[in-house]
Amino acid sequence: MEDILSAAEEILGTAVRVEAHRDWAIFWCPFHNDSDRAGEGGQPNFGVHLTEGYWKCLRCGATGGSLRSLSRKLGKGWKPPVSATRPTRPKRPPPQVELLDEAVSEARSCIQRSPAWDYLMQRGLLPHTALVYGLGYGIPVPRVHREILEAARQSMMVRRDGTWLWAGGVVYADPPMHPTVMNVRYIPDEQLPRGTRNFTPLKNHKTWGVRSEPLGSWRITSSTRTILVLEGLFDMLITAQKIHQLGRAADTVAVYTNGASPSAKMQRWFSEHPGYEYILLRDPDKAGVEWAQSVSASIRGGGGNVRILKPPGKLDPDEAILSGWWPSGI
Ligand SMILES: [Zn+2]
Repeated sequence: MEDILSAAEEILGTAVRVEAHRDWAIFWCPFHNDSDRAGEGGQPNFGVHLTEGYWKCLRCGATGGSLRSLSRKLGKGWKPPVSATRPTRPKRPPPQVELLDEAVSEARSCIQRSPAWDYLMQRGLLPHTALVYGLGYGIPVPRVHREILEAARQSMMVRRDGTWLWAGGVVYADPPMHPTVMNVRYIPDEQLPRGTRNFTPLKNHKTWGVRSEPLGSWRITSSTRTILVLEGLFDMLITAQKIHQLGRAADTVAVYTNGASPSAKMQRWFSEHPGYEYILLRDPDKAGVEWAQSVSASIRGGGGNVRILKPPGKLDPDEAILSGWWPSGI
């Protein structure tokens, strides 16, 4: 979310305001004389969606699907108007998910008697794996100290009505103590007690914080030789579980990139850690192909070794591993 906001501000100048609870940043529209009306009490009409990157103007109807298309439409010579380059709002303080240990402890303490437990077992996860990775259940309103609530608000994890955006989800903090990233996988509505979640998540997962290393890499030790790289949280958890069952945890670690387009920092991490044997287990879809290409390019760019494997039968890695598949040579 921070990534999209800073990219949008690079193109348009500082946002007039950020509506964090709705994931929108509001700007003066660059396609019509929007900002000219500012002095007459006019309101900015141009919104950029902070998790999806699409944009639209409520007044002139300009619209597009990505920030790349916005740059393209504005053309090479486009510069943000001088008025927009002066900050009109205070810079947002950085996310503070590392201060959320108390809330994560609360989430962990209740997981075994929460709807998350059934969900995890149904997805093939064993209690051992859930506990090693410190998975928690997203309580809609955890009881935490005021400073912790402030840190959560600053990290854009709390709605205006006080409900936490991790409500009704499996919570994973990475690393488990003083996390830099908070990832939630939403449990489907029909598996939650009625009224657990008073909002509809846009996607089945959400992330806060700054992704600068592959998630799960806190388990790498000096004896790690092989790193299995996956796209999603459950792919990693099921892979890690299999590694444990095979007795290979000493030299093999599973990590995930949290989506099909890893951050630039994460890509740099791969190129700066060439000393491992990397194996990419990719999703069967087209995004999985592109993901494998970009991650393997970073690894090779740093001089590392990498193999790309696709599970059989159009299965995602976690489904394939649960049904008995395992890459040969690991
Ligand atoms: Zn407009």
